[in-house]
Amino acid sequence: MDIIKVNLGPRSYDIWIGKGILKEIDFSKFKANKYGIITDSNVRKLYGEGLQKLIRSQGLEVELFDFPAGEDSKNWEIAGKIGRELIKKEFDRYSMIIAIGGGVVGDLAGFIASFYKRGIGYIQIPTTLLAQVDSSIGGKTGVNIPEGKNLFGTFYQPKAVFIDIEFLKTLPEEEIRNGLAEIIKYGMIQDSELFEYLEKNYSDRTDEFYLRIIKSSCQIKTKIVGQDEKEEELRKILNYGHTIGHAIESAQGYEVSHGRAIALGMVYEGKISHKLGLLNEEDLNKQNQLIKNIGLPIVYEGLPGDLIEIMKKDKKVKSGEIYFVLPIKIGEVKKENGRISFPVTPSFLEECLTQ
Ligand code: NAD
Repeated sequence: MDIIKVNLGPRSYDIWIGKGILKEIDFSKFKANKYGIITDSNVRKLYGEGLQKLIRSQGLEVELFDFPAGEDSKNWEIAGKIGRELIKKEFDRYSMIIAIGGGVVGDLAGFIASFYKRGIGYIQIPTTLLAQVDSSIGGKTGVNIPEGKNLFGTFYQPKAVFIDIEFLKTLPEEEIRNGLAEIIKYGMIQDSELFEYLEKNYSDRTDEFYLRIIKSSCQIKTKIVGQDEKEEELRKILNYGHTIGHAIESAQGYEVSHGRAIALGMVYEGKISHKLGLLNEEDLNKQNQLIKNIGLPIVYEGLPGDLIEIMKKDKKVKSGEIYFVLPIKIGEVKKENGRISFPVTPSFLEECLTQ
């Protein structure tokens, strides 16, 4: 088992990574008078009920709450509904939430933990590859509202993260690809060795493969969050591929998978960097080839004008300028006087999206 520490002073916590570690967790170490498992309808049957039994077998009091699986459930109403169920079951300030599921569960359960009785502790047990390498770490919680994704949210760190690769055995390939897209991103922004490892082993589905890529990804994210918890600047590096990716998700009414949108985002944001004379053609092609090999798209079929309009409304946009993280080679991005994202004019952006 590997342990990675997230260093955030009094809010520091450990990420545990291994195979079959779920059954080894001693929940009594996370002192609470009551534990509330929050999960979705799919994960409830697969792992939620088993987790409830496990915690009960440790002589602890535990309740299980669930909601319908899917992004549509990551909303204000469901957060409030579960919050009220917690009240009914008499959860108090000394109780603990346990989020077991993908990013939707983690974001929603973390959000509930952050507002319930002005904040109670929570533990993340991510069960998708995306949640294991990204969303369970760093304390971003939130829900979607009709005006946009994640517009209501908090920074609220968990007490611990337990990553068990056993969960990935039941995860559909499409969901594995979503996670791999984020891992390509880590390779592009910070870790050329991870990128090369993926280039050679992308079709592998062994324990060794998963442990290797998850560990590296968690190390990268942990280091970044440890330096810039509230995304003042450095943490924006994690947005590579996401500015255009989020616009694609929005333009397609969230019908497109996150991995496909982010993959296209990296293709076009990589192209912006190349056209600015920063990223060389060979590295851009390597990135795109890896995306293609994994089974993700490299050509956007929609209208670029729509994307630009959506990006202008993005919460990351400042005074009409659209900011991008720009790779200069595989494993490194442009940095200047502590800045990590740089403005691009809408007309140049349109050129990059069309040609
Ligand atoms: P998800 O939570 O919807 O999970 C995808 C599907 O897989 C769901 O149907 C789920 O029930 C199912 N599932 C989960 N684990 C499974 C398993 N082990 N076996 C079989 N099925 C399983 O989606 P996701 O991709 O994990 O997360 C996406 C969400 O994460 C988005 O809402 C996004 O905004 C958020 N996110 C948050 C952060 C952050 O920093 N907080 C970062 C990235 C993404």
